[in-house]
Amino acid sequence: MVDVRDNAVPTADPLIGTTLIDHVSALAYNVGPRPAGHETENRARSYIRKTLTAMGIEEVKAQPFTTTDTWAYALGSPLALSLGGLLISRLGWPGRFLGSILGGAAAYLTWRAASGLRQPLDQFAPQQTSANLIVRIPSAGRPKHKVVLLAHTDTNRHRDSFSDARKGMLPKIVTGIMGLQAAGALAQFIGNPWLTRAIGVAQMASLGAVLADERGPYVDGANDNASAVGCLLGLAQTLNANPLQHTDVWIVFTGAEESGLVGVHSFLDEYGDQLMGAYFIDLEMVGYGQLAYIAEYSGFSTLSSYAPDPESVALVERTAIANPSFRVNGKKMMFLDEIAAVRRRGYNGVTLVTLGPGEWPANWHRDTDAIGNIQPEALERSARFTLAMLKTLDAD
Ligand SMILES: [Zn+2]
Repeated sequence: MVDVRDNAVPTADPLIGTTLIDHVSALAYNVGPRPAGHETENRARSYIRKTLTAMGIEEVKAQPFTTTDTWAYALGSPLALSLGGLLISRLGWPGRFLGSILGGAAAYLTWRAASGLRQPLDQFAPQQTSANLIVRIPSAGRPKHKVVLLAHTDTNRHRDSFSDARKGMLPKIVTGIMGLQAAGALAQFIGNPWLTRAIGVAQMASLGAVLADERGPYVDGANDNASAVGCLLGLAQTLNANPLQHTDVWIVFTGAEESGLVGVHSFLDEYGDQLMGAYFIDLEMVGYGQLAYIAEYSGFSTLSSYAPDPESVALVERTAIANPSFRVNGKKMMFLDEIAAVRRRGYNGVTLVTLGPGEWPANWHRDTDAIGNIQPEALERSARFTLAMLKTLDAD
């Protein structure tokens, strides 16, 4: 369904909440669920591109890449590898030896996925084509700083693993899976067939749980992450009309975040050389509740934590102190986002997020993540605080 609000370009302040929510509605309601690499994700990019063009931003670079369409491959393929390793232990000591290597490799590959690094096994899974859309708004004067704003266009599934009762346990569950893979390797190395079999059964149950978590439909993703795309569109219009004096701003609408941060990795592969020392600011689920920045991220295992760099924290804290009405604080959270890729590859960055009930992002990977659960005022606060961060940096 397409209505007259599509690609309407506001003449008033583009950061007003009622304007921002029109972008969110165009993506989450009109386009709907946007799995990585599927046609609807591409339609979301068409909306973004047309809106930018209507704002007078003609130079929008599309950077295509291939991806899987769900994170189950990243978690499931190491389990399959490890189970294969347990089966070949029947082939005597060469099988056991190879099986222990496969089990150890599986534990390492699971850790990589839980920590926001690329999953090399994904290349053997079915591939789709996704893309990043990149806009650059150069500074009006002599450039001193670079900022990269990130918002992903794709959406995840409705997941049982993200129910209120379960989501807090995710890092422990994934750590348990890594433990089973490592234990399988050890059991084969010492040659204990009973232990090997018991571990095989537990790994099969884990693989079953990973697959069962895939039964939910893809969600509209109004909060995750049309909210952030809407804020970046408003910021693009604002900055294009009034560029910063000393700060080059890159605005990147990434594809395929939910399938394993594939879009941001592809972006860093191609443009990373130009962006050492830049401030990456990731907007995630900024459409409901109190605005915060993430002071420490758990990642998806107990060995996967990461943190923003001190300079990014100083920028966000300075902005928060100068703009106390936003009441922005740092939070430690169970979270894995594009800043994991950014930080682990040596770049600077921090995430802005809004927190709803229980200090969790509202409706995270649940079918209630729909346009009716977005607050225009939360969008506006998020966009205006992001702009305040840019202006704080620009004044340095
Ligand atoms: Zn997200």
